[in-house]
Amino acid sequence: MDFKELVAGRHEYAKAWKARKGGKVIGWFETYFPEELAYAAGLLPVRILAEHEPDIISDKWIYAACYPVKDMANQLLLGRMDYIDGFVNTEGCQWMFNVYEVATNNAPQLFKHYLFLPDYTESKSSKDVLRSELDVLKTRFEEWLGVTITDEALDNAIEVYNKNRTLLRTICELRRADKPVILGSEFMNLLLADQVMDKAEMNVILEQFLAELQAREGRDMVRLMLIGSETWDSKLEELIESLGGNVVIDELENGTNYFWNNIYPQEDRLMAISLRYLGRNNHPVKDSNWRRRPQRIFELAEDYFVDGAIIAKQIYCHPHGTDNYEVWKILRERNIQYHYFERDMTVPKEETQLHLEAFMNMLRAGITRLVGWHNKIEI
Ligand code: SF4
Repeated sequence: MDFKELVAGRHEYAKAWKARKGGKVIGWFETYFPEELAYAAGLLPVRILAEHEPDIISDKWIYAACYPVKDMANQLLLGRMDYIDGFVNTEGCQWMFNVYEVATNNAPQLFKHYLFLPDYTESKSSKDVLRSELDVLKTRFEEWLGVTITDEALDNAIEVYNKNRTLLRTICELRRADKPVILGSEFMNLLLADQVMDKAEMNVILEQFLAELQAREGRDMVRLMLIGSETWDSKLEELIESLGGNVVIDELENGTNYFWNNIYPQEDRLMAISLRYLGRNNHPVKDSNWRRRPQRIFELAEDYFVDGAIIAKQIYCHPHGTDNYEVWKILRERNIQYHYFERDMTVPKEETQLHLEAFMNMLRAGITRLVGWHNKIEI
């Protein structure tokens, strides 16, 4: 299965899906978007993915923002996703909200909705607030599409999405092995494809892929963790692999945070969805109360036996910029080596490659390995 090709063909896929099913497509930006609700309404939820295309349009609309936001605005204004029938923005990064504003202000005929999701995810009233916001979105979908979102439809959506997350988690667990059978680039493309395809169809693909993985030989490479702003492609993972490294785990919005926890079904379906999205691993903007993210990063590094971490922040990404000092602190305290750098629309390949190579050469010596050290010296 070539997941990269699936991602490249996502526009054609969505158009074909519309022709086949006669349904509508809803675009989303943040991984806090409750896809189950859209799926139960008969919509195809697709994540808007950024490219690396320098442009002359976006500055007019969004100045001094991270490159993905500018690129998404560019693509949307160029009409490359004109098969999309509406957008939902979920409360999260304000930069992302700007893309939603630009997209919908320039196409007022589209469905638009702003879904509030509390920043203090653990506070007493958060689950009720989000439940009521989900109810509003449900009604808006019903009015727009002229349908009723039944409990049966919600149950089906929850089942399909839970199955999807379980499959992703199962594949992710294979990356813990001494010789992982899947490379970080392939896993990233798989996740990106997952975010733009009909989940029921993707589940069939993932089941077949899981069987394919059982027959593969793994490879021993420098084990790395990728941390930082969300990503929209696998270029960094590919560069790391060309140098003999493998991203065996990540802490990214569109990575493990996307699929780590399931919905626990309960009578009140909207409350079940509310609890899942509030209970997922936090984005930095929703982590300011208890700061759970740094500890989670450490636990993942330990569980996946990483030799080192790469922190890649998008330039102008303030949520991660303000969170990084806590991440650096925990990595230093616990002797996990890391390399930090910033990404932009384009990245100087030679310079980035040189830095990564130097970092990996430092790890290869084995002196600094504390996490997973027992595996390395065969105790
Ligand atoms: S979280 Fe960072 S990378 Fe993501 S949209 Fe916001 S500023 Fe950009």
